Amino acid sequence: MNKCFFCQYQVLPSFKDIENLQRFISPRKKLLGRDKTGTCAKHQRQLTKQIKYARYLGLLPYVSYQGSR
Ligand SMILES: [Zn+2]
Repeated sequence: MNKCFFCQYQVLPSFKDIENLQRFISPRKKLLGRDKTGTCAKHQRQLTKQIKYARYLGLLPYVSYQGSR
């Protein structure tokens, strides 16, 4: 069974956890959907918020055109 990353490790998504957040964005820095990451609905909702906050703080880029095309 494809278990949610955050349930598995019993952690909550946090904007400070850049290395973890990067697993949930595509090479072009777009947010990945739940179908691709296996994150549960509860954590996906928190994750999206945290990623957006990290972007706001400049910890994650909004878009990247590197590594594609
Ligand atoms: Zn979860």
